[in-house]
Parts: sequence; structure tokens; C-alpha cells
Amino acid sequence: MEQVFIKTSTDPYTVFVGKNNLHQLQVLLKEISPSNVLVITDTNVNELYGDSLVNLLGESFVTHKYVIQSGEAAKSFETFYEVQTFALGHQLDRKSVIVAFGGGVVGDLAGFVAATYMRGIDYIQVPTTLLAHDSAVGGKVAINHPEGKNMIGAFFQPKGVVYDISLLSTLPANELRSGFAEVVKHALIKDEEFLHILINEIQALENLNEDQLQLMVLKGIRIKADVVSTDEKELGIRAILNFGHTLGHAIEAESGYGKLSHGDSVAIGMLFATWLSQKHLKANVPYEVLQQWFSKLGFPTDIPPTLSTDALVKRMQKDKKSHANQIQMILLKNIANTTSEVFTKEQMYSLIEKWRGG
Ligand code: NAD
Ligand code: MG
Repeated sequence: MEQVFIKTSTDPYTVFVGKNNLHQLQVLLKEISPSNVLVITDTNVNELYGDSLVNLLGESFVTHKYVIQSGEAAKSFETFYEVQTFALGHQLDRKSVIVAFGGGVVGDLAGFVAATYMRGIDYIQVPTTLLAHDSAVGGKVAINHPEGKNMIGAFFQPKGVVYDISLLSTLPANELRSGFAEVVKHALIKDEEFLHILINEIQALENLNEDQLQLMVLKGIRIKADVVSTDEKELGIRAILNFGHTLGHAIEAESGYGKLSHGDSVAIGMLFATWLSQKHLKANVPYEVLQQWFSKLGFPTDIPPTLSTDALVKRMQKDKKSHANQIQMILLKNIANTTSEVFTKEQMYSLIEKWRGG
């Protein structure tokens, strides 16, 4: 089992990454010695692994379980309220611990419940998706508001993260691809050697073995942890994690959430940002190589024709990371060397049109 230490301004914590390593969760919990434990999971993860986790924890702790509906819609005020009501009804107190057992949806919701229940109780992340290498580290927890995704939330660090790679074997192909996009993002912004390993070794996303998955999770977490530990509250350097996301978010939102996965949208966004880096900064980046590789892996490589450039630019301008009339883009000076550039909406419109025109 591998460990990554995460530095924070409050308590540091450890991410344990391994195969069949859920016993580590028990070890962590024993150190905290909680009055009781609430496992929050979703319908899919519950069906596959819910009983075995609850049985394991039940050997040592009074363990309750709350199952939310799978999918982004569960990051709502309604579900948040239901979980809080369940916690109150089951006598969770300030010494209780919440275990977030699932992907980013469960992690974000359960983390926000933990951040606010009785002004904050301990929680542990037990991620079950590849994308969660991104969401389980960094301490951002949130639910959605009808006015926008992740608008209501907090910065609240977990007591630890237990990442069992073996659980990823049941992940549907599109979810694996979505998580892989963020792995590639982390490589592009921070680790050239890792990027080359990925491009050379990963020719398909079916039949990835546990060693390959473990490497992706570990490297991805190390890079993310490195960035967030220098900028916990997202005031500066952390913006580089937004690479591919300015256009990616716009595509995801404009096509209607759920139609195109986050990772697929970000993949298109990363291709555009790489192309723009080459055109605008004369950066030495392998745009064509990336494009061919993405296409081989099953990612879309163009903006869907049904989406208008005008609508996308409007969305990009509304991004909570952009200001006034300007659109901020993270670009690459080289692989693993980012910079931030600002464009007007007129400039962005013609650049996207040019890219789409081929
Ligand atoms: P998810 O939690 O919805 O999981 C994806 C799907 O896979 C769900 O249907 C889930 O039930 C299923 N699933 C999960 N684990 C499984 C397993 N082992 N086997 C089979 N099926 C499994 O989505 P996600 O992609 O993990 O996370 C997306 C969410 O993460 C978004 O809400 C996003 O906003 C959030 N996010 C947060 C951060 C952060 O810093 N907090 C960062 C990135 C993303
Ligand atoms: Mg993302």
C-alpha cells in the first residue's frame, strides 16, 4: 500500500492507496474512536459493496448507512436535508464520523454534511471512482444550487482518504474515461514524464490492470496535492487545475448536464487549450499527438456541432473563475509549464471558430 501525505493549514492527513485495503479504514477509525459511524453511499455503490463495508465496520463500531440516489442530482438541498435529518434521528454527535463511500457526488455531499453537522464533524473519504482521485483531495465540498453547480459549499479537509483500487473494477467504461481525462490533465499541467508514460502505455481504456490504475491514482493525487497545499483556498496557483475546464464547463453546461460527461467535455477543452497554446504562445506541445490519442481512447475531439460558439463564449464569460468582460484561460508554455492568459469575448469567439473550422 502506498501513502501520500497531504499538508493543510489545519490537520494534515494521509491518502492510503492500495488493492483490497479497506481494512485501513478500520485502522483510521480506531485512532479516532468515534461514538458512531455514518456511511453515506449511493444506490450503485451500495448494491455492489454496501453490505461488505457496513459489516466490516460493524465489527468495531455502531454503524449506520444512508443511501442516496446515484447521480449528480443528489448534490441537492433536499438530499442534504434528508441526510442531516437521518443523522439527527440516529444520534450522531460531535464525536461521530462520516464515511463518504462513493464517487465525487457522494464525496462532495457527504463532505458538506460533515462540514455543517453540529458545526463540523470528522469525515473520511473512501473513493470508488477514478475521477475521485481529483475530488477526494483538496477539501472542497459542495452541493448544487439551481443557479449553478457547486455554488453552496465549504473548504473542509477529511481526516484521511482510503483508496481501494480493487473497487474500480466495476466502474462503467464512460465513468472510467471521465476520470482518465482528469488524470491526463494532471500530467499535462505538472508532469511531462508521466504524460509520456500514459501516451505510450495506455492505448485503450478497457482492461486496464490494477497496477496501471494505481499509478494513475497515485500520480494524479500527488500532483493535485502539490498544487492545493500551496493554495488551499484557491486564490492563485490552484487556478492551473482549471486547465481545459473553461471551455469544458461551457460545453458540459450548454449540452445539458449528463448528456456529455465532465471528462469528455474537459477532453475537448484540453484539446482546444493545447491548440491555443501552440497558436498563441508558439508553445512546443504535441497537439496532434494528443488529438489522435484521445480519439483512439474514445474521447470526443470536437465541439458537438449542435452547440453554437456564441452560446459557449457567453458561458465561458459567466464562469466563476472569469472576471467582467474577460475570459481567463490556462495555457501551456510547455508540457508541465502553465501560464494564465486573458482574452476578450470577441477574441475568444474568433479563436473557437477558427479551431472548429479546422
Ligand atoms: P459519481 O459520484 O456520480 O460516480 C459516477 C457513477 O459511477 C455513479 O453512477 C456511481 O453510482 C457509479 N459508481 C461509483 N463507484 C462505482 C464503482 N466502484 N463501480 C460501479 N459504479 C460505480 O461521479 P464522479 O465522476 O466520481 O464525480 C463527479 C462529481 O465530483 C461531480 O459532482 C463534481 O462536481 C465532483 N468533483 C468535485 C471535486 C472537488 O474538488 N470536490 C473535483 C472534481 C469533481
Ligand atoms: Mg474537473
